[in-house]
Parts: sequence; C-alpha cells; structure tokens
Amino acid sequence: MAVIWIDIDLDAVAHNYQEVTRIIQSQARCMAVVKADAYGLGAVEVARTLAAEGCEAFAVTTVEEGLNLRRHGLEGLILVLGPTLPQQWRKAIEGGLQLSLADRQSISRLDELCRQEGLKAAVHLKLETGMGRTGMRPEELPEVAELLLNASHLEVAGVYTHFARAAQRDHSYTRGQYEKFRDGVAALERYGIKSQWKHVCNSAAFLDYPEYHHDFVRIGTLLIGHMPGPGFGRQLTLKDPWAAKAKVLYAHRVPKGTYVGYQSIYKTKTETTLAVIGAGYADGFGVVPHFVPQGLWDLLKIFVKNTAALFGVTLGTEKIKVHGQTVPVAGKIGMQLTVLDLGQLESLPGDEVEIPLRRTLANPRLLRQYWRQGRIYAKRTLTEEGVLEVQAE
Ligand SMILES: *Cc1c(COP(=O)(O)O)cnc(C)c1O
Repeated sequence: MAVIWIDIDLDAVAHNYQEVTRIIQSQARCMAVVKADAYGLGAVEVARTLAAEGCEAFAVTTVEEGLNLRRHGLEGLILVLGPTLPQQWRKAIEGGLQLSLADRQSISRLDELCRQEGLKAAVHLKLETGMGRTGMRPEELPEVAELLLNASHLEVAGVYTHFARAAQRDHSYTRGQYEKFRDGVAALERYGIKSQWKHVCNSAAFLDYPEYHHDFVRIGTLLIGHMPGPGFGRQLTLKDPWAAKAKVLYAHRVPKGTYVGYQSIYKTKTETTLAVIGAGYADGFGVVPHFVPQGLWDLLKIFVKNTAALFGVTLGTEKIKVHGQTVPVAGKIGMQLTVLDLGQLESLPGDEVEIPLRRTLANPRLLRQYWRQGRIYAKRTLTEEGVLEVQAE
C-alpha cells in the first residue's frame, strides 16, 4: 500500500482536449505535446486518452520518449521536437518518428543514412526566429533548400518555429517572430521547397493568435489543465486532472511552545495536533524551480515571500488539504516525512491529505492511479528494474 501517490483523472484530460478543439480554427489540428512524461502525468496514458478522443498527432522532446509511445502501441504522427544525435536516427525512423532538422549538416547526413539503410524519413524543418535555442537562420535558407532538393530520401513534412514570449503576452516580439517565420517559409518555397504542414503555436499563442493556427497547434499546458499564464483563457474552461495525496502516518497532541523539525524553525503557538505525512522533498514535495528575478517587481515579490517565511507564514505553495480544510506545514519539509499543524482538527493515521506537488517535479517513482468514470482504470509504478509499467485493471 502506497503512503503517497497521484490520482490522475483521464476524463479531465479528455475534457481539456475537447475544449481545445472547440476553439481551434477549422483547418488546424491539435498536436498533443506529451514530452517530459506528459508534464509528469504519464505520457502513455495521456496519449492513449487523447487518441481515443480523436487526436492523431503527438510531440515529444527525445527519440526515447517517442519510441516509448510506439512500444505502447500509440499510432499516428509522433514528432521529435528536440535536436537529435545521428546515432539515434535509424531507430527513430524505423519507429516511425518524424525528426526535427535544425541545421544544414544534418540534412545531408540524414539523407545519406537513409540511402544506406533503404529508409525514407519525414522531417520537420525548425526555423530560428527569436527563441535562440535551435533552428535554421534566414541566411542559411538558400543552402538549406539546395541540400533538400538533393536529398531524395527525405520528405519535408513540416516547417515550424517556437515562440519565446507568447506566455508573457509580448505581442510585438511574438509578431516579429511570426514575420520571420512567414518570410522563411516564403523563401523556402521560392527555392522550391514546399512543406506539407506549418505549425507555430504553443498553448499561449494558440489562445492569443487564432490567425497563426495553420495546420497544427502544439499544445501541452492546456491539455494537462493549466493556463499558460495569468489573464489567459476566458475562452475555455479546463479541468485539473492532477491530485497528489499522502497518508497521515502518525498524529499527536502537543503543548504550546513545542519545537518542530530540523533547526527548530517552527514552534507551536497553542496546544495543537501535529500530524506526520509520508511525503518529502525526495518525492518532489516543496521543491520549486530556481527563480531568477526579471526586474524590480519580481525582486519585491521574492523579498515579501522570504520575509513572510521568516515570520512563519508560507505564502502559496505548501498548503495542505485535510478533511476539506487547509493546514500549514510545520517546520522544514524532510526527505520523506513532513509535519502538519492541524490546530483543532482531528486526524488519525491512515487519513488522506491532498498535497501540492509540481507535476514536472513529482518523482516518477511515485505511484500514479489513472481514473476514468469514477474508477481506477490503470496504475503505474517503477518496477525493481526501473522500468515503467502500465497495467490496465
Ligand atoms: C513544449 C513545447 C510546446 C508546448 O508548449 P505549451 O506551452 O506547454 O503548450 C510546443 N512547442 C514546442 C517546440 C515545445 O517545446
């Protein structure tokens, strides 16, 4: 029996997909981005759910992620977004994955490999327009086109780019990126390279720029039930599929003035009940990504948060739900144990509490329980060999 686990509501994932497709432009289709294990939810189960809803295209970052989906029987288009190494190409193509090409050398190398192995590869050209990560720059495009015209074993399935500031709603930057993309596509066409599809939108751009939907929109965040940022999404209502839960393992009544946890940073203010749950930072609980302030306003926010923490007030994250009520963490979060201050609430060992756990930082070792129509439909854990198992019940 697990003392910490994650409940994932696949009906909510299906609902979110229907919401996205409700407002998509009629010529476009949704390419579900299920990278990073579908942002921690479980790529196989999420992709299967979406496929059952009619989704025919998926995107991942790595070849391994794509092959894992194929191993679990997923059909349809799978695009590998990230840059790949030549040693990974043969397996990727044999697995029916489509690769992103972001530099000139890869074109001739991949074509050569396909010629030798008797393969044909469908590729998507990644254009650099302002993300500064990967992609072909405008001045490279004449040579790119020439290489492609000679690459008889490659088929250009797509041309795409990725926006850097769509979630910040920096419209002029995003529009500038789009213009570079549009010019790049036009240049390629002038040189004789026509692609089947174009795609530029992530979740934020999908909501803000219906005129940019083109053939595919690449959606991750919205499908897992989040908005890309504050102020987004009056157009659709999303459901949160994710609930991390832990069990109370121990509870005791303590007097006022009791120190709790490492460094005794917490001292009870009244007589109270303390409960210990089986969750800690080894599970990803209380772990937050490193935050670099972008300007004075961010700096002020960090200052306020840290000052509040000094006086024992935690803002936002580490609030736990017990019997429908919100209680604070008492003291430092431990590796696998955390103490809660329940005040006058009663709790017994075995009680369930809901804890905030960042999807992408939740330990993949944790049990995931997949729900459909009020029933557990599948479970996933790491086995002894470290292999991910999905068992339908
Ligand atoms: C992650 C990613 C997406 C999806 O972004 P969301 O904002 O989560 O929808 C789309 N395109 C690329 C290239 C990505 O890396």
